[in-house]
Amino acid sequence: MNATEILEKLVSFDSVVGAPNGAIVSWINDYLASHGISAKVLAGPEGDRSNLFATIGRVDMPGYILSGHMDVVPAEVDEWSSSPFRLRREGDMLFGRGTTDMKGFLAAALAAVPQLVTAGLKRPIHLAFSYDEEAGCRGAPHLIAQLPTLCAPPLGAIIGEPSNMRAVLAHKGKAAARVTIRGRAGHSSRPDLGLNAIHALAAVLNAAIDQTARLSQGPFDTAFEPPYSSLQAGVIAGGKAINIIPDLAMLELEARAISGVNPRDLLGPIRKAADALRDNGFAVEWDEMSAYPALALAARSPLAHLMQELTSETPLSAVSYGTEAGLYQAAGIDALICGPGDIGRAHKPDEFIFESELAACQRFIEALGQRCAA
Ligand SMILES: [Zn+2]
Repeated sequence: MNATEILEKLVSFDSVVGAPNGAIVSWINDYLASHGISAKVLAGPEGDRSNLFATIGRVDMPGYILSGHMDVVPAEVDEWSSSPFRLRREGDMLFGRGTTDMKGFLAAALAAVPQLVTAGLKRPIHLAFSYDEEAGCRGAPHLIAQLPTLCAPPLGAIIGEPSNMRAVLAHKGKAAARVTIRGRAGHSSRPDLGLNAIHALAAVLNAAIDQTARLSQGPFDTAFEPPYSSLQAGVIAGGKAINIIPDLAMLELEARAISGVNPRDLLGPIRKAADALRDNGFAVEWDEMSAYPALALAARSPLAHLMQELTSETPLSAVSYGTEAGLYQAAGIDALICGPGDIGRAHKPDEFIFESELAACQRFIEALGQRCAA
């Protein structure tokens, strides 16, 4: 099968984030088996979804990881010109949910497998395909935790998120959390008898607003836009009616951290403000929704050099979107982003990839294979 045929198959699975992914995993598993590769299907703690890991070549030698996620963001069918889960060709353009983010990369990697199998790899190439990346990299940490039992310590990980096939060395880290405040309901005419959760949440919201102002004062890293860590409250909810004392209020926040800053730490002052409400009789819950660290790979690292040679392009210093690369780097594995397509097309109706972009990505992976065979 060529990359387009594989992409057509991958797009046909509506492997939307947060849902069971058995169908796409088992198709990829079967495809690899048909080329003599026995993949490991690694079930996550949810029980109904899995990561997939496969090695072409020897597992006891250090090699390279090609990392991609199998989940896609949902598609509003009405906004699409054609069915988002049926690949549609228009000239050189291939339309479908996930074509760019990032089943295109998976398809190019899988299409390269027959060539990699016969290349006589001295250093292996691993495929590490994850689930629920779009929910804040929820699947990949489980795969990364098992890596020491799956292969020798890798030389590097290439995360195939759309970057127009240009290596990217840095992105911000992120932490998202939900804070839930529970008070006591009552009639609005007797505020003395209730505990108003919305009023209490105001202190938490103020702490978040104060923190955004503080963060804009630095530290700075000019690789990023904006060049500082940031934070925002994105969702707020609470209350049932104007004459009922609200017993429940909820706020969702996310922080984005420049390299060298732990994104969880950015939420610290807000968490402290929430915890302080307990002294006034409120129940407080703090749920981390997702977190991944920033990526910062040195331009002089061997992996960055290798990519420059293979792509004939100087790596790009930073992008604004987050990926699994930060998780690999935090696990001690050099990592960068390099994949086909433009991030500007992701998460939108009529997402597409050019067939020529798929071909360029496949050529790049096969060239990596030549290196690993030499
Ligand atoms: Zn993605």
